[in-house]
Amino acid sequence: MQGSRLGWAVYEEIPMPRAFITGVTGQDGQHLAEFLHGKGYQVFGLVKGQNNPKADLLRDQFPYVEIVPGDLADLPSLVKAMEVAQPDEVYNLAAISFVALSWNQAELTANLTGTGVLRMLEAVRMVGGASDNKIRFYQASSSEMFGKVRETPQTERTPFHPRSPYGCAKVFGHDITVNYRESYGLWACSGILFNHEGPRRGVEFVTRKVTNAAARIKLGLQNDLVMGNLDAKRDWGYAGDYVKAMWLMLQQDEPDDYVIATGETHTIEELVERAFAEVGIDDWKKYVRQDPKFFRPAEVDLLIGDATKAREKLGWTPEVDFPSLVKMMVKNDLAIEAARAGLPVPS
Ligand code: GDP
Repeated sequence: MQGSRLGWAVYEEIPMPRAFITGVTGQDGQHLAEFLHGKGYQVFGLVKGQNNPKADLLRDQFPYVEIVPGDLADLPSLVKAMEVAQPDEVYNLAAISFVALSWNQAELTANLTGTGVLRMLEAVRMVGGASDNKIRFYQASSSEMFGKVRETPQTERTPFHPRSPYGCAKVFGHDITVNYRESYGLWACSGILFNHEGPRRGVEFVTRKVTNAAARIKLGLQNDLVMGNLDAKRDWGYAGDYVKAMWLMLQQDEPDDYVIATGETHTIEELVERAFAEVGIDDWKKYVRQDPKFFRPAEVDLLIGDATKAREKLGWTPEVDFPSLVKMMVKNDLAIEAARAGLPVPS
């Protein structure tokens, strides 16, 4: 009140909204932390393990994120994290996220990507999510749940037929999120996101593997690119666009589930062709060979999403198209690889 006595305008102090992100060190976690910070949120991020090198990356590049220790495999740590962060919004992005790895570590994938969602929901429920619907919860569901697709394009009503331990775990995570909403009135949404990429994607994923290889071949740092199945089709968008959709879902009056996709599909071969063209190589076939070790025991042949509901209800549309996405990623890889090798960036 001192301000008004002195004749200043006095504004009620509005507390910053608080967001809690699991998987904050991953591609989507980084984009979302940046986005929410820009919107004035106080951002908390769950970081697992002892002496985790990713915590240093977070401290360096995202100093505004408050690190909260904990692990999706450990419910007490999640309850404690909820008590510390006291979030208004929870984004559950943490998972074993690489499909190919999920065959080698199927049980771990089930435990983190699947049962981890149940633990997060319980933690939210125990710390007050269900009593007054205070905490809003976002689950990162995946187009991999559609797997051997039952219809094209895929919508919120398309039945699931997962093709990997990862896809199976994501189906459980999705269903348990819907179940907690229906059982306990939890304010929980699930975003069925199709593949989303960008410069922060790990090189184990096909987009970054290809853009990085095209850059390295152009710079003379690598001779060839060894690939798996070139015929699979994916609906690829830009991760920076997709985190906006996550946030929009949690700003609605009612919780619901949404498909987030571009509505366009491209083969892996088209991706390779475009990435090589970006560095000025037209005869990409000279550099690319296939190896059975990169083929999967069961494949998802075709994904293409219909995001009509997100467009109509959330007002969400993707801004970066496929050619711009590949261009952005190739440019980034050229800059990184040239700097590492002490070479000039080709114009
Ligand atoms: P996913 O859709 O989540 O599995 O994302 P990925 O980027 O890992 O794979 C996309 C598609 O690329 C799948 O159909 C893979 O079989 C195919 N693919 C072909 N060659 C490769 C490769 O060398 N690495 C990866 N990661 N995927 C490949």
